[in-house]
Amino acid sequence: MKHLDELKARLREIHRLQSAAQLLGWDQRTYMPPCGAEARARQIAMLERLAHEKFTDPAVGQLLEELQGYEESLPYDSDEASLVRVTRRDYERAARIPAEFKTEYDENAATTYHVWTRARAEDDFAAVEPYLERTLDLSRKYAEFFPEADHVIDPLVAMSDEGITGAFLRDLFGELRRHLEPLVESIEERQPPERSFMGQRFPAESQLGFGLQVAERLGYDLARGRQDLSDHPITTMIALDDVRITTRVNENDLTGALFGTIHETGHALYTQNIRKELEGLPIGRGATAGVHESQSRLWENLVGRSRPFWEYWYPRLQALFPEQLGDVALDAFYRALNVVEPGLYRVGADEVTYSLHCAVRFELEMDLLEGRVAVSDLPRVWRERHVETFGLAPANDREGVLQEMNWYCGRIGGMYQHFTLGNIMSAMWFESALEAHPELEAEMAEGRFETLLNWLAKNVHTHGRKFTIPELVERAVGKEVSAEPYISYLKTKYSQLYGLSSA
Ligand code: ZN
Repeated sequence: MKHLDELKARLREIHRLQSAAQLLGWDQRTYMPPCGAEARARQIAMLERLAHEKFTDPAVGQLLEELQGYEESLPYDSDEASLVRVTRRDYERAARIPAEFKTEYDENAATTYHVWTRARAEDDFAAVEPYLERTLDLSRKYAEFFPEADHVIDPLVAMSDEGITGAFLRDLFGELRRHLEPLVESIEERQPPERSFMGQRFPAESQLGFGLQVAERLGYDLARGRQDLSDHPITTMIALDDVRITTRVNENDLTGALFGTIHETGHALYTQNIRKELEGLPIGRGATAGVHESQSRLWENLVGRSRPFWEYWYPRLQALFPEQLGDVALDAFYRALNVVEPGLYRVGADEVTYSLHCAVRFELEMDLLEGRVAVSDLPRVWRERHVETFGLAPANDREGVLQEMNWYCGRIGGMYQHFTLGNIMSAMWFESALEAHPELEAEMAEGRFETLLNWLAKNVHTHGRKFTIPELVERAVGKEVSAEPYISYLKTKYSQLYGLSSA
């Protein structure tokens, strides 16, 4: 098939440019001297521009057109039909965005981020407010290029999570609030578990060594990956055989580095198990941001914060830190790992309150896009919503609306749903894997994770980006996307942990 081969060759060239940009970005976060930043930003921008130009070349559109008949003659889920379908979707989306708009959008994103870092340090929302106004304006304008969408947020959500709409998310967050808010209330009536032992000094080197040992045992292939330090943990996918994670470590916090490492390992395992035939093609990466988070969160929470996991690992951790943990029993340690406590921050929030943080942010995105809340009112409304949801008010905007970068990276809308989609899908995958392999938890207690990894590889990883979220979920577990398994997982686990009567 001449046209298909030509399309693949073009796409693989584009991917090589993107891979090189990824590697430059990895170096930027790990080893680059600070003064290299300006030159590095220009290098990355140039590679990205070249990749974009090559992809939006009308010759690509021509090839896609020529391949339409061929695509229709093949099964929907074949690699070839999926490649043409997904590439066409990307191409048509890119073609709708005028070049001048893209430049304006990218420039606003870079400037706003830069201004935000200072605004946050100085607790000065007013400094970044005009840039955020512009971001809201550009987000609405972006959506206008997709007039067929039912809601202004739909095209913005589709940028990261194909197949999910604002209407679906409104229902989802409503359902999560209905179930999780009463659960948090019941938990708050209980005595909080003892956890002061978690704040002792745990030498960095031992923490890092332990984390990496766990990552390898979960299946992370270090011949095709590596771990380094960076300010924010991240996974960089340079190629299917070169997937790197980073972590950060704090000697007075045992959990930060470990769960950060397990989280990034989940992202890395996803990429390392995508089928080689898809390498370098638009379908040769993770399906969506939400599906990616479903992998990281599954390993971090459903595995890494579970009791079977620690039956195997806790004696090893105690052996590493005998002075700090020698007298702490497994159950006490397990309870300390799973303390539920409403707080001001999404990052680092426990499993039960985490999705409520995302709910607050998604609802604010809707309010901003629909014009019910003005950017200038955002600090006040942010504070009010946190008081309503968590009973806590941030003392300043640094603890409030300035706390995280997401809205200051170029768009409002579609910046938070993937975390929650990740949570709910992680429970769907785990439930289904457990149904197929009831021995799974007993294996985890023996330090064996290959049955779970193989299930994920076979049902999720291998498909790369061939399917949308609803398609992938239907194929893997035979159901529609639903929060029910996640809600029931949280109710069961935390009712046991906190001795609540009705789950
Ligand atoms: Zn992640």
